[in-house]
Amino acid sequence: MDPYLLAFLLIVLIGSVTVYIYYLREKKAELAGIRQGFCPKCHQNSIELTDKRNGGCGGPALLTFSCNVCGYTNSFATHESGSCGSDNSA
Ligand SMILES: [Zn+2]
Repeated sequence: MDPYLLAFLLIVLIGSVTVYIYYLREKKAELAGIRQGFCPKCHQNSIELTDKRNGGCGGPALLTFSCNVCGYTNSFATHESGSCGSDNSA
């Protein structure tokens, strides 16, 4: 294989991994703020949990938050182990 092509592929790979890690960090920081009730977009204390889907016992849950001031909406997958018996708590 062409060493230049190989180097190029390596750079692309490292670049995409870096972007992905950065994206995950950003998302984690966003979720940390949202859990305290703050909107990452307008910074108001106006975030509400609008939807919660559990992927079964021990599976990842999909939480959807939305802001009732600026209309920000985002979904987060969490790996918290929700209790299996109480899925009507949202
Ligand atoms: Zn907002």
